[in-house]
Amino acid sequence: MLNIRKLHKSYPIGDSSLHVLKGIDLSVKEGEMVAIMGSSGSGKSTLLNIIGMLDEADEGDYILDEVPIKNLTEKKAAIYRNKFLGFIFQSFNLINYKNALENVALPLYYQGMKRSERQEKALFHLEKVGLKDWAHHLPNELSGGQKQRVAIARALAANPKLLLADEPTGALDTKTSHEIMAFIQQLNDEGKTILMVTHEEDIASMCKRVVRLKDGVIMEDAFVEQVRAEQYV
Ligand code: ATP
Ligand code: MG
Repeated sequence: MLNIRKLHKSYPIGDSSLHVLKGIDLSVKEGEMVAIMGSSGSGKSTLLNIIGMLDEADEGDYILDEVPIKNLTEKKAAIYRNKFLGFIFQSFNLINYKNALENVALPLYYQGMKRSERQEKALFHLEKVGLKDWAHHLPNELSGGQKQRVAIARALAANPKLLLADEPTGALDTKTSHEIMAFIQQLNDEGKTILMVTHEEDIASMCKRVVRLKDGVIMEDAFVEQVRAEQYV
């Protein structure tokens, strides 16, 4: 599904630059559920944003679904992003003056879908996250967990192949975090490929594979089942 080779990214800081990603190699197959871990500032969001085509690498190759990303024009990249990728963020990033239904329908609007069809699809996805009765409520009338569920419904509305989540449980209490993770696991069981950033070990352990970043490189890349099995020998 995605293939990254020798990826580098620096940010200019004054007269010098900060080398954040120093040769990342990462492959993810369809149907995987991968956690990206690492301390604050280790480059997790930078990597996820490059994978999500919200940012560009300085060097290296990134192939998503057999398409080399750096060859795409900006317009093609935007179309590709809307079609293939869904995003979830720690701070939900809902539009405050739009109700739950309108928030979920938004990616469908960008796809050019007509209004009645958008409404029907958005309602279907809200129902899937258990919020059908909240369709006409504004984000500030919803709890954190409910907001994240609206955000998940929005991320899923356009049926993306890959779901990217940056600290999706970072703003939630433990119980709500686990509910959201159970939901994300269910999506993965249904076949969705998921890549999420988290700094919480218990959240990462609910994924199938954990990739750890340190000093701009991947220091560990392991399947959770395998690590668990090795702990008991
Ligand atoms: P956190 O756990 O705190 O979210 P992170 O692992 O997601 O951290 P990044 O956001 O990827 O880290 O940032 C990596 C480094 O790059 C940090 O030192 C950060 O200050 C720097 N950085 C990130 N974005 C920019 C930017 N647009 N311009 C300059 N520096 C940046
Ligand atoms: Mg981050």
